[in-house]
Amino acid sequence: MGLLTGKIAVVTGAASPRGLGKATAKLFAEHGATVVITDLDEAQAQAAADDLPGEGHMGMACNVTDKEACFATAAAVIEKLGAVDILVNNAGIQFRKPMLELETADWRRVLDINLTAAFVVGREAAKRMAKRGRGKVINIGSLTSELARATVAPYTVAKGGIKMLTKAMAAEWGELGIQSNAIGPGYMVTDMNEALLSNPDFDAWVKGRTPMRRWGLPEELAGTCIYLASDASNYVSGQIIYADGGMISVL
Ligand code: NAD
Repeated sequence: MGLLTGKIAVVTGAASPRGLGKATAKLFAEHGATVVITDLDEAQAQAAADDLPGEGHMGMACNVTDKEACFATAAAVIEKLGAVDILVNNAGIQFRKPMLELETADWRRVLDINLTAAFVVGREAAKRMAKRGRGKVINIGSLTSELARATVAPYTVAKGGIKMLTKAMAAEWGELGIQSNAIGPGYMVTDMNEALLSNPDFDAWVKGRTPMRRWGLPEELAGTCIYLASDASNYVSGQIIYADGGMISVL
């Protein structure tokens, strides 16, 4: 019996083959969950769902900044699978530009995807979870949930917001039987970091700055997700756990 046997999980932005969402969906499926993978492209989401171990997984197109699409996806999940037990708000983008050159439209776009969407999708999932008196919401933050870094101001603000959104969810939804937590990944080997991984100076900086002297692997984020998605964490709510090789703990 897996840790998530019989559970229905939705992971947003999980179609990217090397992404944190896909690795999380795979580990969820290995532990017995039925997983709904959502992403921008329906065919890619379906291909990612087809790639998961076990039966019954679904891939659906859902742009998390399109609230009508979020409503329709939530309704379709309930219609087809009957419930949602676990939501991972994983979809996200990075955008690098110094603040003095940053357009307001780009600021809003990064906030919309990385923060507002977690509220909208979280709210739609929590309405369904509340009816059954149980559920798990996991929001993906970042080291920038705590620390700023030059050229990524809107991302920093969004991920700082994710930390406090998680606490707000815990404050309001705890009495409904829903635990809300966040994970702050360190520097992970995913497509989002392609340019950084192939930059020798940045690679050396990450390894020098991280006590574990390496980048993180998507499976290592997924392992933390499993804990927060399972009954093992039923009295844990409002927390952000950093899966970062110790980076945020040291100067
Ligand atoms: P990734 O680029 O591999 O995956 C992100 C996914 O989100 C993609 O599949 C993309 O299509 C999807 N997406 C983007 N915009 C979307 C939208 N509007 N609607 C639906 N889906 C959308 O990136 P990743 O590294 O796997 O990142 C996953 C999450 O982890 C993100 O929230 C990111 O901010 C966070 N994170 C990543 C790292 C890292 O080092 N990789 C560190 C900290 C936090």
